[in-house]
Amino acid sequence: MAKNSLSDITAPWPEQHLQKLGHCPVCQSNLAELLHQDLQDRIFFCAPGRWTMLSCQQCGSGYLDPRPDEASIGLAYSQYYTHDIDESWLSDASFWARRLPSWRTGYIKRRFPAFAVQSANLLGGQLLARNPTARVLLERDVRHLPTPLADARLVDIGCGSGSFVKRAQLLGYHAQGLEFDPQAVEQAQRQHINVTQGALPDTGLPSSHFDAVSLSQVIEHLHEPVRALHEISRILKPGGFFWLSTPNALATGHRRFGGYWRGLEPPRHLAVFSAKALQSSLQAAGFTDIHFQCPGPVSAWFYQASQKIAATGPDTAELGLNQDSVLLNEIRAIDRLSMTDPCAGEELIVTARRV
Ligand SMILES: [Zn+2]
Repeated sequence: MAKNSLSDITAPWPEQHLQKLGHCPVCQSNLAELLHQDLQDRIFFCAPGRWTMLSCQQCGSGYLDPRPDEASIGLAYSQYYTHDIDESWLSDASFWARRLPSWRTGYIKRRFPAFAVQSANLLGGQLLARNPTARVLLERDVRHLPTPLADARLVDIGCGSGSFVKRAQLLGYHAQGLEFDPQAVEQAQRQHINVTQGALPDTGLPSSHFDAVSLSQVIEHLHEPVRALHEISRILKPGGFFWLSTPNALATGHRRFGGYWRGLEPPRHLAVFSAKALQSSLQAAGFTDIHFQCPGPVSAWFYQASQKIAATGPDTAELGLNQDSVLLNEIRAIDRLSMTDPCAGEELIVTARRV
């Protein structure tokens, strides 16, 4: 696939397709400060336009204003391939999972008795459960899902080509996926994964139907994130489990890299949430038992990706790109801190139950 060049992003976004908001799309407040100017698509190099991000003074979220309207947003996805994304087990990157894969499967088997595997060392799994770092990685792998009861149903919304749908099936859920990108849907269906085309906030899925819903790196792309949360609340059974991940607007990396931070991804990310904004939006949408979870050691990925974005910018010298030891120490510090303060990481992961 030919990569577009910088010149493709220098054109303006079509004027008639710019939507002026005048308020925060998360909390509706009109109190905002300028956060970034002249943001460009330096990740996929396919979206034209220069973007302004405001910081909401009420809820701490960042949002593009103006932003692409819904009719034109497809322009920003011409080089964006959800169906290329292969979601590997995060724990695979760890020392013990490479040396002792049966311990990892042992942990999962203890949590999900339906998990069908050849070799599972249950005692090894028990030992891993006592190790906080291992537990964080393994729980992230299974999206903190509860052990499913018989016939429990799960939908992964924005599932790409369905790798997590497949995983949830292995864990014992009747799992399905919903995906906007028709090519990703086709790829999933070729692998006989139950994925249909659709998107938030109007999923067309039945009310009070699901025991679990997961939403990985999706909410920041939506024009109506609050309506989306209400929709998820509608399709969940009372007491149903919800898992969400999204970049953290108040991340250390955001302060470090400014407009080049990987979590921004203009103009595909329309709003980047703060933990406070997520908490109150979830409460308003009928969720309770809201818990932020440690995202795991993801800072290195954010920092490397942000460095790559910054390297295409005009003012890379100011970012201290050669101060590798400073950045490495910062990455370690963030990952360490997020073990005790889950809202201190580059990413927010939240679990909740429908009232
Ligand atoms: Zn707000």
